[in-house]
Amino acid sequence: MTPGVGIWRCADCGTGFFPQRLLCARCHGASFEQDRVYEAVVEEVSVIRHMLGQSDWQPRRIASVHTSDGQRITVGLTDESGPGTVIELFEQDTAPFGAAKK
Ligand SMILES: [Zn+2]
Repeated sequence: MTPGVGIWRCADCGTGFFPQRLLCARCHGASFEQDRVYEAVVEEVSVIRHMLGQSDWQPRRIASVHTSDGQRITVGLTDESGPGTVIELFEQDTAPFGAAKK
C-alpha cells in the first residue's frame, strides 16, 4: 500500500489533474509533473453488489470524492465512510482507495 494517490500537476500553472491529461485545461500547457494528494472528502457513495461473471463477489463500496487539491476522483472505500467524511487516500496495486482519517 502506498500513501496518497498520484496526480499530474501542470508545470506552468500548477493545476493538478486526475486522470492524466494531454493538455492543461486551464493554461493549455503540455508539461506535467507527478505529485500526490493524501486527503479527500467523500461526496457520494455507491455499492457494487454484483459483477457479471463473478460468483464469489463481495459487495464493494466506491465513492466519488473531492481531494484537498481540487480533483474529483473515484476511489474504493475500505470502511463505512459516508458523504462528508474526510478520508485518507492510498493506492493498492495502482488502484486508488480511501478510508476515514484516524
Ligand atoms: Zn496549466
